[in-house]
Parts: sequence; structure tokens; C-alpha cells
Amino acid sequence: MRNLNHISLYTFTARAIHSQVAIIGGGTAGLNVSAQLVRDGHFIPQQIRIFEPYKMHAYQTGWTLVGGGMCKVEQTMKPMEKVLPKNVCLSDCPVVRIDPEQNTIVTMDGQKYTYDQLIVASGVQRDYASIKGALEQLNNPEAPVGSIYYYRYAQKIDKMIREFEGGKLIFSEPPTKCEGIPSNIVFLTHERLSTRGVKCDFHVYKANDSIFGIPKYSQIIGELAHEKGLHCHLKKRLIEVQDHKVIFEDVETKQQYTSDYDFLHIVPPQKPAAFIAESGLGDSDGYVNVHPNTLQHIRYANVWGLGDCSSVPTSKTAAAVMAQTPILIKNLIRTWKLKQNPLPEYQGYTSCPVYTSNKKVLLAEFKYNKQLDETFPVFQSSDSKLMYLMKKHFFPFAYWQLMVRGLWGGRDGIRLFKGV
Ligand SMILES: Cc1cc2nc3c(=O)[nH]c(=O)nc-3n(C[C@H](O)[C@H](O)[C@H](O)COP(=O)(O)OP(=O)(O)OC[C@H]3O[C@@H](n4cnc5c(N)ncnc54)[C@H](O)[C@@H]3O)c2cc1C
Repeated sequence: MRNLNHISLYTFTARAIHSQVAIIGGGTAGLNVSAQLVRDGHFIPQQIRIFEPYKMHAYQTGWTLVGGGMCKVEQTMKPMEKVLPKNVCLSDCPVVRIDPEQNTIVTMDGQKYTYDQLIVASGVQRDYASIKGALEQLNNPEAPVGSIYYYRYAQKIDKMIREFEGGKLIFSEPPTKCEGIPSNIVFLTHERLSTRGVKCDFHVYKANDSIFGIPKYSQIIGELAHEKGLHCHLKKRLIEVQDHKVIFEDVETKQQYTSDYDFLHIVPPQKPAAFIAESGLGDSDGYVNVHPNTLQHIRYANVWGLGDCSSVPTSKTAAAVMAQTPILIKNLIRTWKLKQNPLPEYQGYTSCPVYTSNKKVLLAEFKYNKQLDETFPVFQSSDSKLMYLMKKHFFPFAYWQLMVRGLWGGRDGIRLFKGV
């Protein structure tokens, strides 16, 4: 959805263009994996090709802060050529088809590419269109409807909060793979409006059956929401948006409810790109069907998946990408170059920071089977100022200064040594 002039004059060659490693997607996962492959000296950059149609790379995590009035959208974007590892090949035409039997990729302009190893990192698509009337209201500058999941709508949310004079606020969430992100904008909006003394009636409608999938954090967030007077409605899915009116459906009984609103925040349903399923690489929901511990494709030994597009059953976050990257690289090198089996090292680590105000963050960290996997347990029994300082100031620095150079190992800190 980034409208960044990605139409260019594609150069077409009749012959297929070969790369040792093809990476589909130049988002957080594609960039991180390419930077570490190059930095660790496994490949020279010219042997790696990234497919990415957008000219700007987005630090999507920052869009929460844009909506919360804590940073400018310009701080969340950088031109692709500034963040890509030097001399890595870039194809700026979207991939439309993969033939994993023939190790072939086809882009929208018909150009064919071949690969030895393929890494799929194409993220998810934000499906606002599946909610009737949502795009019309989001795109109407006068309508009080926004969303931090797209930078323009995040800017709109910031403006809506600044101009809000009071009334009923609704925050909707479809079944989501990261429940921390939607809570952020609820709390940040509450903080800003209560600081201004604006009279508000907050309602959160979640399609999930709990406030947060991990009981410990669900309880902390639930108590904070209660203290702040926020009303939470579970198992309710937004199906239609009209002018100052919304329709929800109960996910079990299918009964419909209508409500009026003066302010609406929409979390869009998310889905993987269609080419994954169409190429025979998808699981039953269309996500890249990889082994949850090795990140290797279930059927094709030279295909790998990480990030939001992969089938791993954990919360989809940039933090998860940082944990997955070194394991994927190690397994790719082991299986391809060393002819050894992949190691089942990924245990589902992910992390969702929840801004509970514009001064504190609750850092949720967990792995598969809802098990806690906390790095700073002392600071994670409630929301904390220290976690806030890390999230607001250190993480963006780590992303732009360390991650893009292949130097960021997530919670393992700075990577000074090779991953394999
Ligand atoms: C508002 C918001 C707040 C967030 N907050 C946090 C947070 O606090 N902490 C955290 O850890 N995570 C957070 N996340 C999640 C984090 O941003 C994602 O998990 C991360 O970006 C996933 O990386 P990815 O590379 O898998 O997907 P993306 O970063 O979305 O990249 C996918 C790329 O693939 C490209 N692509 C798609 N289809 C094709 C195709 N056919 N051909 C070629 N290229 C293609 C896309 O253009 C895109 O650039 C947040 C996300 C949002 C939206």
C-alpha cells in the first residue's frame, strides 16, 4: 500500500537471470537476512538478488509512534538504495510466480530468474477492503477513521487525536498475529486525550477471545484497561464501516451489532501474498509452509521462509525476524554448503512491546506454546519506564544503524562474530 512511484522501466532479457540466493521482499526480514549473509562473508553481494517493488523501506514499528504523535513519518522511511547492502542485486518488479520444481521466479514484467536457494520474506498484505466501507472512510479526510497500519492513515490518526473534542471512540481488531500492536494506539490515544481533559468513552472490540494471548500479559493489560475505564468487547469482528456507524459480528453466533462512533481506529485483517499459495509453497492459510524450528520449507529443501509471511505459529513481529534470521542462515549454509541437516533451533521467540502510556512500556516476550521467554524479568512484571526508553530510543537506532549493516542480533545484542 505504499504509494511510492514504483513504476519503472523494467529491463527485460529473454534469458533467465541467475542468482545463488534470491530473496523475495526487501522489508525487515529480507533486509536483515541479506545484510547478515553479506556481512558474515557467506556470499559476495552480487550473488544475492532481492525482489522488492517499493523504492522506500519502511520501519513499520514507527507507525505506532506516528499515530501516537511521538514521531514524524519521515523518520520511519528510507530509500531502498540507502539501506540495501552495497552491490546486492535489486529487482524492483513484484514477483508473481515461483516454480519451486524448476527453481524459477517470474516477475510481473515476464522476466525469468533462477536461483540455487530461495528465501521468501514477502510480509503480509493489509486487507482493509475486506471490511465493507472501510477504505472509503479511511480515504475521506473529513471522516474520523484512521489506522496505524499504513503510514498515511497513521498520520490521520495523529490529527484525529489532536482535534478530538470528546465522544465515543472505537478500536477494532480482527484475529491478529500480534496483539500488542493494536493495544498501543488505544493506550496512547487515551493518554493524550486525558492529558487534554477531553471526555471520552473508549471501546475496544477484539475478534480474539482474550485481551492478549499470554495469560500473564493479558491480566496486566486487562487491569490497566480497567483502571483507565476502557470497555473491552471480545469475539466481535468489524464487518462494515459507515459514516459514524459501525457493524460488528459475533465470531461465534454471527449475531450483528451496530454502534455509533466519533473516532474509529481499524486494525486491518492481514493475509499473505497470493503468489505463495499459487506457487504451491503455502500452508492451508497461504503462508509459506516452513518447519517451525528450522525455517526450511516442508517440501523444498532449498526454499526458506521467515517474517510475517511464514507459517511459524508465533506472533509476527520484527523481534521474531531478528531471532529467526541467524537460524535460517545457519541452516541454509549447513544444508547447501556443508550437506548437513538443518538444526531445529528456532523456538518461536517473539516480543510485543505495549505502550501503556507515553512514558511506559510493557515488554511482552514469549515463545511457542505461550511460554514466557523474558530477557529482563524484573522489568516485565508490569509496565516500565526503562522498557519505554529502550523501545522509543534504542530500538529505532538498532534498526537503522545496526540491523541494516547485519550487526543487530536482536536480544543477543550486537553481532560481532559470524552466525555459522
Ligand atoms: C503499526 C505496526 C507496528 C509494529 N510494531 C512492532 C513492534 O513494536 N515490535 C516489533 O517487533 N514488530 C512490530 N511490528 C511488526 C513488524 O513491522 C513486522 O513484523 C515486520 O515488518 C515483518 O517483516 P517482513 O519482512 O516479514 O515484512 P515487511 O516488513 O512487511 O516486508 C515485506 C516486503 O515484501 C515485499 N513484497 C510483498 N510482496 C512482494 C512481491 N510479490 N514481490 C516482491 N516483494 C514483495 C513488500 O513490498 C515488503 O517490502 C509492527 C507492525 C506495524 C504495521
